[in-house]
Amino acid sequence: MNRRSQNHSLLIRGGHLIDPAARIDAPMDVLLRDGQVAEVAPPGKTRGSAHDKFDARGLIVAPGFIDLHVHLREPGQSYKESIATGTAAAAAGGFTSVCCMPNTHPVVDSTEWVTWLQQPARGAVVNVFPIAAATKVSKGAALTDYRALQRAGAVAVTDDGRPILGEDIMREALRLAAEINLPVIQHAEDTRMTEHCSMNEGPTAFRLGLRGMKGAAEASIVERDVQLAQQFSGTRLHEAHISTADALKAVRRGKRSKARVTCEVTPHHFTLTDTDIRDYDANFKMNPPLRSAADREAIVVALGDGTIDAIATDHAPHAIHEKMVEFERAAFGITGLETALGLAVTCLHRQHKIPLTRIVELFTAGPTSVVDLRGRGTLARGSHADVTIFDPKKRWTFEGAKSRSKSRNTPFDGWQLTGKVVATIVSGEIVYRAD
Ligand SMILES: [Zn+2]
Repeated sequence: MNRRSQNHSLLIRGGHLIDPAARIDAPMDVLLRDGQVAEVAPPGKTRGSAHDKFDARGLIVAPGFIDLHVHLREPGQSYKESIATGTAAAAAGGFTSVCCMPNTHPVVDSTEWVTWLQQPARGAVVNVFPIAAATKVSKGAALTDYRALQRAGAVAVTDDGRPILGEDIMREALRLAAEINLPVIQHAEDTRMTEHCSMNEGPTAFRLGLRGMKGAAEASIVERDVQLAQQFSGTRLHEAHISTADALKAVRRGKRSKARVTCEVTPHHFTLTDTDIRDYDANFKMNPPLRSAADREAIVVALGDGTIDAIATDHAPHAIHEKMVEFERAAFGITGLETALGLAVTCLHRQHKIPLTRIVELFTAGPTSVVDLRGRGTLARGSHADVTIFDPKKRWTFEGAKSRSKSRNTPFDGWQLTGKVVATIVSGEIVYRAD
């Protein structure tokens, strides 16, 4: 990124600061200078001066949001998304950092591609942290070179899109990653149980005449991983996009053990259920699929009680021709960067009374407990000047056609949401401002 953060200062004044990592939930001014947080002080009490000022009255000021799970589609599939368009959508959604998944073409399993993803020529608007493949070409057979990938900038390894299915290879991945304190991210799906399935197993799948994925295909892998993670010290296991009550039970057991077990959920899994798949609309098709009402309720409880560490979008852009086909033939996945905060405030805060501090935590300190992004996830003095400013009361309508993403595959087109991003600041520079 080529940003003029030197000799630049910005005072964000009059806002209400929520910084869960620093245990702050109070009116505070924040002074950014030279790409760092220079001061956090009660209103009107900062000592330093600033070139520019941002009036944040009536708004929440938070550490920049971090998305652990984004498909930016480069290299190889820039007809769906590019790093430039995907990070522009991230900025509009309040995300200042995104971790991008390696299931591209080619798969990001070498240091060359990890380096390529981070080059200024990619045109990223927010910080991009690559996650590298856990096995070569994500085929689940031979491990990649974790030390070299980490040195090149990878913050975790995963075969996302596919599970690391073999028990021996998963054990070896956890053991080697533990030696260098690197998280292993699992796409928990026993694909031997889900072949040819396009939605959740249950009455709705039966009525629609579609083959359904068993919830056990997710829970069994999480159970297995949690057992393996306890076999070595220092393992860091992260379960991506958890969607079932049973998988959450396994995560809870893992958290009670000595192993470091974390997990994330997506906004669509805490908002929708499989009964929302009306008229075979493929914009409701994703993997893991929308689950039962009981699963959704368990997710909301787990978001409140700390079982879930982070909200991650699993932003998965697809071109129209990949979605405008029969449901069973359509690609899995939906976009999600621009609707995440609105869905969290609308569904979790307003409907389910989860405090805003907890929601901010799930977008900030939570993700940094999963991957190491030094000096991010908080606005403590000396941290990176990455800030998300939002209006928790603003009602707005999401229009998919106006998305900054290259793709339009969203089930939330036309949804009325409460809670809107007002400005996104990366290294002290405003990279998005609502009009
Ligand atoms: Zn996945």
